[in-house]
This record gives sequence, C-alpha cells and structure tokens, in this order.
Amino acid sequence: MKRVGIIGGGQLAWMMGDAAKKIGVELVVQTPSRNDPAVTIAQDTVFAAVDDAIATEILAKKCDVITFENEFVNLDALSLLAQQGVCFRPSLKSLAPLLDKYHQRCYLRDLGLPVPDFFAVDEHLNSVQSQIKALSFPVVLKSRRHGYDGQGTFIIPDWATLQQQLDTSIKDKTASQPLFLIEEFVPFTRELAVIASRAVDGEIVTYPVVETQQEQQVCRRVIAPAEIAPHQAAEIKAIAHTLLNSLQVVGVFGIELFLTADGKVLVNEIAPRTHNSGHFSLDGCETSQFEQHLRAVCGLPLGNTTLNAGSAVMVNLLGYENSQSDYKNQRQAIAEIPQSHLHWYGKTESRPGRKLGHVTVLLEHQHRDQAIAIAHKIESIWYPSSLSGLK
Ligand code: ADP
Repeated sequence: MKRVGIIGGGQLAWMMGDAAKKIGVELVVQTPSRNDPAVTIAQDTVFAAVDDAIATEILAKKCDVITFENEFVNLDALSLLAQQGVCFRPSLKSLAPLLDKYHQRCYLRDLGLPVPDFFAVDEHLNSVQSQIKALSFPVVLKSRRHGYDGQGTFIIPDWATLQQQLDTSIKDKTASQPLFLIEEFVPFTRELAVIASRAVDGEIVTYPVVETQQEQQVCRRVIAPAEIAPHQAAEIKAIAHTLLNSLQVVGVFGIELFLTADGKVLVNEIAPRTHNSGHFSLDGCETSQFEQHLRAVCGLPLGNTTLNAGSAVMVNLLGYENSQSDYKNQRQAIAEIPQSHLHWYGKTESRPGRKLGHVTVLLEHQHRDQAIAIAHKIESIWYPSSLSGLK
C-alpha cells in the first residue's frame, strides 16, 4: 500500500503525517475546508464533507486503501464503492454496528461485554416510563448518532428535565426513528480507556490502559498508565481482544470504560479510529497510535506499544473564547516545562471547547498525584485565571 486515503482532515489525520513519512506512505485527505489541520500534511486533498460518498469515489481513485479519522460517514452510500472493489480499512462491516450508540450498546451486550443498562427512546415517553422507574434518576440521555465531545450527552436529574430535554431535541429534528437512548448513570470512580490495534493477519496489540478525566463530558487529561489492579488491566485487554476479533477490525480502535467503586469495569463507548486517549503514544511509545493505525491499514506488522517512560500525562488545550490568536506566549511557557512535548494543531479559529492542541509530559515514575499536579500547572498557564470554571 503506497497511498492511504483518509476520510476526515482534523487533528487525528494531521497526527498521521509524521508517521506516514516514517513508514513511507502518502496521505490523501477528504475534508471540507482548506483550513483543516491535515490539509498541510496531505499529498493531495479532496475538499468535501466526510459523508459525501461521491467525493469518496474520487478519493478512492487517488489511493490504494481508505481509512477514517471521522466515522460520521454514510455507510449505505460507501457500501456501493466497497462492492466495486474499493478497499476500506477498517471495513464498513466493522463500522456498521458502532455508528448508532444504541446499536453499539446492543452489539457489546450481545457479545457478552459489560455495559450500563440502557434502552432506546422515541418521542412517546409514556412507553418508557416503567423502564425509567426501574433505572431511577439520574439517568443519561444520549443522541444515538453524531455525538462527540459530550455533544448529545445529557445527565438528567429528574423526569421533568427529561421531558424538557426530549421536547427541545425532538423539535430540532424531523427523523421518524427513535433518536435517543437512555442509560443508567454510572457513579464511576475512574474513567479508563485503551487503544487497541488489529492487523490484517489478526494480530492484536494494546497500549497501556489509561485514566481519562472529563469535565462537562469533554476529555481534559489522560494519565498513562492508569493506577489499576493487574487483573483489571487484563480484563480490559481481554475486552479489546473480544471486540476487535468479533468485528474483524483492521486498524486502531479506542475503547472508553468506567471503573466502579466495587471494581467492576463497564464499556462506555467505542471509537472506531485513533482516539484522544492515545495521544500520549506520540511521545511516550516507540510506535504512536497514528503510526500503528497506518501500519495496520497498510498490511505491515504492528509496532511496539510499551511506554518508554515511568508514566505520561497528556493535557488537551481547549479553546475558551472566540478568537484567531495563535496563543504563542502560553505555548512557549508550556513548552518550558521539563519533558513536555507540545502539539499545536494549527487551527485558524479558536472557539470554546475546541481542541486546539495538546501537551504530553513524560515522567520518570508512576505517580498519579504528581501527574495531576503537572496537568494543573499546564492548565493554569493555558486558561486565563478569570476562567476558574474551566480549570
Ligand atoms: P461522547 O461520544 O460525546 O464522548 P460519551 O458517551 O463518551 O459521549 O460521554 C461523555 C462523558 O459523559 C463520559 O466520558 C462520562 O464522563 C459521561 N458519561 C457518559 N455516559 C455516562 C454514564 N452512563 N454514567 C455516567 N457518566 C457518563
């Protein structure tokens, strides 16, 4: 495989740029805007929305294999291309059960993997009253499609709020199908994640399990490795193997999980692509998740995933205002932190909550409190002190 097409041109595709050079492949990107990060690293670009299958047909002519940095694609339309011989990795079959959060939950449950209790909701709430009673509030309401970074995820404290949220959301949409799922609120003690990769020949490798910290449902920090018992790490690795084998995945997937107070692991969500929780691997591992993904989709053997430091802490640099600033001073101050590696995505517009870059700091030892202290130091440089809510 010499040319890899990527549907989506955000930071996840951008971070494949160096890896592509390293393994000697060229990248062609399908993305809507000239300002998207990966346009700068692509050999060629098809400017179109990620769900534009006609554009993907053009992309297919320019490359040997197509992969995804964004899964919000039109699978039905792409399947016509697959029938004509276009090679998608991961295959459309591996993506199909995952794109709708309700279908995804059903797939995981049917595989025997541990998930929170859940059910689908339509606009007639009456039909689910008894199920909600069985769950008891708070519950979590999620849009079945196109949710990311907490968009479309609502923690619902009571019946009236649920009714209100559904009314507002349903008014915005015209689809006749049930649009939401409701699931139990999991009072987790930690959120965890693992990046796993499966090669064409079925070999699977996983990265160390990490702790992720979300605020307002958006990932703020990642600590690698997570401070969990070896049997929990082994259980999570086994979950990754079961899932990737069952879906016959080729490429990297991110798996998000909850750890409960009684030590139970539940799967929250599957990202069928590289994932924010694996960014530490760019600086902390011999083979980054981005190189690993390209290796898998190009049919190369998978690389080493061991952490080459005692631990690593990754902090997202999220936008906190509408601006076109390049935040040079803040970036310089963060880059002065020992063992820090700053990745700036080169986006031309900042908006509150937008991922503008990230920084990873490598530590000699595994020490959760120290990692958190470093993360807070980075955040105190990055966010203006007036924004105490964001810290
Ligand atoms: P997204 O696709 O937007 O990332 P997620 O399902 O990962 O949505 O939810 C985002 C965050 O919301 C999670 O990381 C977690 O902090 C919180 N969350 C989601 N589902 C639950 C749940 N069932 N119980 C408790 N918190 C949840």
